[in-house]
Amino acid sequence: MFTQLNINAGLSFGAMLVALFCVISSARKNLTRFQHGTYFIICLSALASGICMFAEEFFLTFSKAGDESYIPFFTIEFLFFFFHSFFAPAYALYVLSLNGTIAGRNKNIWYAYWTPVFLVELLNVVNIFIPSESRPLYTIVTTAEGGYAYQRGNLMFILYVVAFAYVLFGIIAFFKNIKALNSRKITTIILFNIFTLLGVFFQMIWVDVKFECIFESMSILAVLLLLENDNDILDPNTNLYNQIGFFSDSEVAMAANRKFSIITLMTGDFFQYLEMLGKEKIDGIEVEMAKFLKSAYHSSYIYHLQNGKYALIVYENKKVKAMDIAEQIKERLQKPWSHEQIEGAARWTITIARVPEDIDKPSQLHYLFLETMVNSDEKVILRSGNDLRFIQRRSKVEAAIARGLQDNNFKLYYQPIWDVKRNKIVSAEALLRLIDPEIGLISPVEFIPIAEEKGSIIEIGHWVFEEACRFARRNDIKNLGIGWLEINLSVHQLPERNLAGRFLETAHRYGIEPSFLNIEITESADVDDNDELAERIETLANVGFPLSLDDYGTGYSNLTRVIRSKFRNIKLDRSLLLSAEIDKAGQTVLASTYDTMNSLSFHTIQEGVETEEQKELVINYGAEMIQGFFFSKPIPEKEFIEYVIKFNDIEYIA
Ligand code: C2E
Ligand code: MG
Ligand code: MG
Repeated sequence: MFTQLNINAGLSFGAMLVALFCVISSARKNLTRFQHGTYFIICLSALASGICMFAEEFFLTFSKAGDESYIPFFTIEFLFFFFHSFFAPAYALYVLSLNGTIAGRNKNIWYAYWTPVFLVELLNVVNIFIPSESRPLYTIVTTAEGGYAYQRGNLMFILYVVAFAYVLFGIIAFFKNIKALNSRKITTIILFNIFTLLGVFFQMIWVDVKFECIFESMSILAVLLLLENDNDILDPNTNLYNQIGFFSDSEVAMAANRKFSIITLMTGDFFQYLEMLGKEKIDGIEVEMAKFLKSAYHSSYIYHLQNGKYALIVYENKKVKAMDIAEQIKERLQKPWSHEQIEGAARWTITIARVPEDIDKPSQLHYLFLETMVNSDEKVILRSGNDLRFIQRRSKVEAAIARGLQDNNFKLYYQPIWDVKRNKIVSAEALLRLIDPEIGLISPVEFIPIAEEKGSIIEIGHWVFEEACRFARRNDIKNLGIGWLEINLSVHQLPERNLAGRFLETAHRYGIEPSFLNIEITESADVDDNDELAERIETLANVGFPLSLDDYGTGYSNLTRVIRSKFRNIKLDRSLLLSAEIDKAGQTVLASTYDTMNSLSFHTIQEGVETEEQKELVINYGAEMIQGFFFSKPIPEKEFIEYVIKFNDIEYIA
């Protein structure tokens, strides 16, 4: 029977099958995002159009002229226009969803968007009720041969104008935000346009051949194969979008200049838990977690990255506030999951970042997943704005430290130490600077703790030590009246095995006596509790390095221990001086500190003297040496040498 059908039936049948394939494939994927929803509408529209076209051919072939046959023919045409009118607007929406314009938009906008379609449908309905001769859209006429033929009405052009307007809108949207599209999306959209436009073009040339539908079906097939294969961005366990989805969606939304927030959740305890509970239970917790997150927010914008990391992309509006969602998540995370044996023991960090206020580049997304060292008993930590800036700065400084070691961006500055009785500069403290080409000058107060945490302090420490030796050797500073150098040592350098040995070796290499290199250590509770560290300090003294106790008077100094220790110099912190300036109590503390230190024959160096008055004050209390801005800030090598030559009145022959 099909042999009787003409080529049009074949084309329509093909169009129908291809569209059916696309509909089934896309429905089976169960993807929730707007993109997939619009694609599904395009497919349905193409499928319905294909069915109508095929039915029309079928009808034309097998029906005989007669009033009762006219009705189904007319109905088919009606349905065709009804469904086909959705094709162009859905296509334009699809482009908008790809380039990040749509996600999270207010729904009211879409009523306006669909209005022209609604008007076209109205015209389609009106068409039924108008007398046959003057139908505005189309009419069915009886042919001379006794069959039926389709005839366009006067207002048919409106359908084309509307469809064209939507297509144009899609094309403008495409070019306007093309930077948000990757090459695969661009290729697909171009292919889609070429196929559909070719269909329209052929249709116009060969009016009698049904090209349009088959070309439309080809175009949706291209989209299915190239873009709608989202299986690889879904996490199979939770059915949430995965890491790839998160990064690509964030990138698209940023490129589209959208304002939104990203919430990330992570637990540092993941692997510990995996070990403890096993894969099956962890999978169960993940599913439970996904279910909870879906109840808190749109599943379309929830991502399960991996190993205890989740993210949400939140487009805020009057009803949806990222902070509310984060608070809700925080509350839930305090409580246990049903698969957990221990009552909610995993610790979580939730981070909220606003785009573009807190981060504005895809390359900054990893900041959200950086752990911060926090001493907090809280089970769930919520970080936002300022924390994020802190994390970001920290991460940049970390990078600067690594770069600094590689590219030699560290510099050693020297601050003179003045001897009260001799009125000479007798020593200098070597103070480290990091001059990064990107960030600029970074203070040791900032980068030393980071280097300590990251372990790079070991390498930095050796660089400082060697550089100080080189400095002493090259400038022959002994002959300028400099009796020794003060070099800072972090307690985090102490665990290094053979630290003292390496220092000795370096000093020898530069021909410098260990007694010329005073090592400054800031005491802390860690050292006090740790006999091994205390031993290491002693070893340094035993091999010949004199020791200075730095920052005495700040927080921690165990006096008994100090007295029993091998320190030669005690450096009194600036804060002692500042409180002596404030009141009697401060003066008593400073006075008794000097009395104690002097009676125990420690040498004292007062830190942080900025004014003449301060200088006189500490001299009165018995300070032996003074270091501070009053004399000089820490300065580079060359300046320091010039300063000392001048101050110590040295006749120096270069
Ligand atoms: P610190 O060892 O107590 O060094 C003295 C700090 O006080 C220096 O800060 C110095 O610039 C500052 N200072 C000196 N005189 C005055 C003054 O009159 N007024 C004020 N307001 N400040 C004054 P800087 O250079 O920023 O170093 C800070 C800290 O960084 C040092 O404190 C030390 O703990 C650490 N540090 C510096 N260089 C190194 C190093 O090579 N290794 C290690 N491990 N730590 C270092
Ligand atoms: Mg120091
Ligand atoms: Mg100090």
